[in-house]
Amino acid sequence: MTHRALARLQQGLAAARAEHLERRRPVRDGAQGAQLAIDGETLLAFCSNDYLGLAADPALVEAARAALDTCGVGAGAAHLVSGHHRFHDDFEAAFARFVGKPAALLFSSGYQANLGVVTALAGRSSEVFADRLNHASLVDAAQLSGAAFTRYRHLDLAQLEGQLAASKATDKLIVSDLVFSMDGDIAPVDALLDLAERHDAWLYLDDAHGFGVLDDGRGGLTARARESDRVIYLATLGKAAGVAGAAVAGHADVVLWLVQKARPYVYTTASPPLLAACLLESLRQIETGAFRRAQLQQRIAQLRAGLASLPRGTLLDSATPIQPLVIGDNAETLRVAQALRARGLWVPAMRPPTVPAGTARLRITLSAAHSEADVARLVEALHAVV
Ligand SMILES: *Cc1c(COP(=O)(O)O)cnc(C)c1O
Repeated sequence: MTHRALARLQQGLAAARAEHLERRRPVRDGAQGAQLAIDGETLLAFCSNDYLGLAADPALVEAARAALDTCGVGAGAAHLVSGHHRFHDDFEAAFARFVGKPAALLFSSGYQANLGVVTALAGRSSEVFADRLNHASLVDAAQLSGAAFTRYRHLDLAQLEGQLAASKATDKLIVSDLVFSMDGDIAPVDALLDLAERHDAWLYLDDAHGFGVLDDGRGGLTARARESDRVIYLATLGKAAGVAGAAVAGHADVVLWLVQKARPYVYTTASPPLLAACLLESLRQIETGAFRRAQLQQRIAQLRAGLASLPRGTLLDSATPIQPLVIGDNAETLRVAQALRARGLWVPAMRPPTVPAGTARLRITLSAAHSEADVARLVEALHAVV
């Protein structure tokens, strides 16, 4: 008997392969860093989200090692049963204090946090308003919630205002990336908050790429947004924080509600407590890490100055470690990425549907782990191949 479902799936794989869209996972040996050992080759990489170079930091490694001796490896149960360890609890308190919110909740990943928050706050009688360039996890979350799902053009707050004014939903939720992951630009937080206040909506801000980097490490919230109990803040902790997980911060009753209702929080085993111990150390490193942010800013300035005279390609206007070089044409973007790779440099090519058609780009990400010589090598190579 032929297995028809498997045959259809294999046809799908063959079609993706024919269009060069089949995706494979490069295998890395060793730790995250500027130089990566990939499939047996050493590459200078500009493709991690380890913006502060904390992923392999000795202080974090030591924190994990020390915690292992007291808490073992597995959490052993969900948070609402016996899995919630003091390290989790201490991290939540420290995170809330750091970002200036009353309370926080630690999820195992940003993807889970977004599913949990949006589905806990929005249901069938709600409407979710989302920037078109939001992260995929926020799109999935809105769809899973069963709420009406309305998208506005990237940063088009006039369109958002019209949509809010026309809405008859009982509960409204505005959802936006704070730093957009493919463009590196920053959402206008206070203007979004004005709209949330005028239309009695929640404002949920996903700061996956800003936490640890922006504003002394506290991320992209403004003073008003820290004060507002309409604003719910997400930081993912596998990027600049260098570990794993995500923390959601807001009013204490919002956090208590999430503990009751966020299914990706309730129905999953708690993350290993040693990771929370590691996160406490990461938070200390972020708080005292002005030198890392200064180093990162120097690398960003160096790259931007070095690429200003590039004959082709548009470096998007970004003050964050995400520095996209838009080439436009898919094949040409791939060619440039491959030419860099031949020189031992790894910069990922982003093509549609990940980015809008006609805006294929190299997504350069910088880290405090990069040296001045690393960035100089990238600039030189780009001048040679673009
Ligand atoms: C990476 C990312 C996430 C997902 O976070 P994980 O912890 O990796 O699951 C969510 N939102 C945005 C904007 C991201 O960039």
